[in-house]
Amino acid sequence: MRSYDVVVLGAGPAGLAAGLSSHKSGAKTLIIEREARTGGILKQCIHDGFGLIKFKQKLSGPEYAERYIKMVHDEDIPVMTSTFVLDVKKEDEIFRLTLINKENGMFDILSRALILANGCRERTAKQVFIHGTRAAGVYTAGTAQYFVNIMGYLPCKRCVILGSGDIGLIMARRLTLEGAEVLGVYEAKPNPSGLSRNIVQCLEDFSIPLHLSHTITRIIGDSRVEAVEICEVDENMTPIIGTEEIIECDGVILSVGLIPENEIAEKLKLKIDNATKGPYVDQNFMTTLNGVFSCGNALHVNDLVDYVSESGEYAGKYAAEYCRQKESRKLIPIKVQKDKFLYAVPQFINKEAENNEVVVYYRSKYVEEKPRVQIKSGNNVLFDKKYRKLKPPEMQRALLKLSKDTVDGLEEVNIIMGEE
Ligand SMILES: Cc1cc2nc3c(=O)[nH]c(=O)nc-3n(C[C@H](O)[C@H](O)[C@H](O)COP(=O)(O)OP(=O)(O)OC[C@H]3O[C@@H](n4cnc5c(N)ncnc54)[C@H](O)[C@@H]3O)c2cc1C
Repeated sequence: MRSYDVVVLGAGPAGLAAGLSSHKSGAKTLIIEREARTGGILKQCIHDGFGLIKFKQKLSGPEYAERYIKMVHDEDIPVMTSTFVLDVKKEDEIFRLTLINKENGMFDILSRALILANGCRERTAKQVFIHGTRAAGVYTAGTAQYFVNIMGYLPCKRCVILGSGDIGLIMARRLTLEGAEVLGVYEAKPNPSGLSRNIVQCLEDFSIPLHLSHTITRIIGDSRVEAVEICEVDENMTPIIGTEEIIECDGVILSVGLIPENEIAEKLKLKIDNATKGPYVDQNFMTTLNGVFSCGNALHVNDLVDYVSESGEYAGKYAAEYCRQKESRKLIPIKVQKDKFLYAVPQFINKEAENNEVVVYYRSKYVEEKPRVQIKSGNNVLFDKKYRKLKPPEMQRALLKLSKDTVDGLEEVNIIMGEE
């Protein structure tokens, strides 16, 4: 039976970076991908805007992915594509994976560490409870993107977009460029969910209206979408009676959020953070189960692919280190001020780890003007930064370079927000 030090599940930007760094750190590594091609979601993101931090260049999604695919290829790291994970079990200190593919049928492999880099899923119409028929013409933004960019089909000619997530904004522009009429983007929250640069470049530049505090309350149509009912919502996101409006259209594009894909995490009984919907991890990206690491959108939904690759690099490096030398764990929680932040990752610092460099990613809960963010342990300030503005769609990153003495003295770490 084939056995490895590190097996990476998923060959998107997180998995490719994780596999590369695990291999470079000396671990016998295998990358497993269920699709026929590597690159993850980037394959269908033909717009530019990727890699500004990592490569200081504005790349398209496929160009960004290609750089990592080439590095993995040049290092001769084995990649199994079109391979599905049927089962994962931990047997003593080893993971047994049952896989299936065309070449080998059903087979088992063993690994000392696992990296979950399996990305995220889009929320569907069912999860946002829209009334009406199940007419054709309702797509998640990622599916619409796949139709247009990979298959060359235009899924609708006159559509509305529900939700102002980045994929929806990008699809508003993409569908317009392909000749469809995008009647508007309807967002239930009072603020957009997507990045400001996407609001400007994808909506304002194409005169596509953004209706905040609005939602779709009904889909009308028999076999195909014929219209939608739009309503204004109050501060509790409850539709306001009397504001209903019928808009004729043949398509509804949903951009209502992404959720880390954690079927394997659940199978392994990892503790899942309710705020991120991904596993809890420490500063080495190790989950609550020794030997299982998580990175990229499987861990939490990132705004930029550059951070996805960064988390993959860390996970790969520390998974390889874990195989060489197992550290004991003494986990100290990192807690966010709940009324000010959506979440922070990692959720723990392992005091016993040799690594005292902690990268913390966090998002504010609301739009905040001139906030000051501090990361503290008791009265000890570990990080202190003043921002002009914080917005929930824009993830923030703090690098804590802690001394061994500081780590030894940690009891609990708190991320708090105050005014400048
Ligand atoms: C439409 C869209 C536009 C975006 N625009 C930008 C942008 O302009 N700039 C930017 O920086 N970022 C952008 N992003 C974000 C960026 O693309 C993502 O953050 C990044 O691709 C996530 O990488 P990942 O490797 O975690 O996940 P993915 O890219 O989703 O890769 C996960 C991989 O895991 C595989 N997989 C899943 N489960 C298994 C399993 N059980 N076994 C084996 N394989 C499995 C999947 O098939 C997939 O290939 C955009 C994202 C989208 C969707």
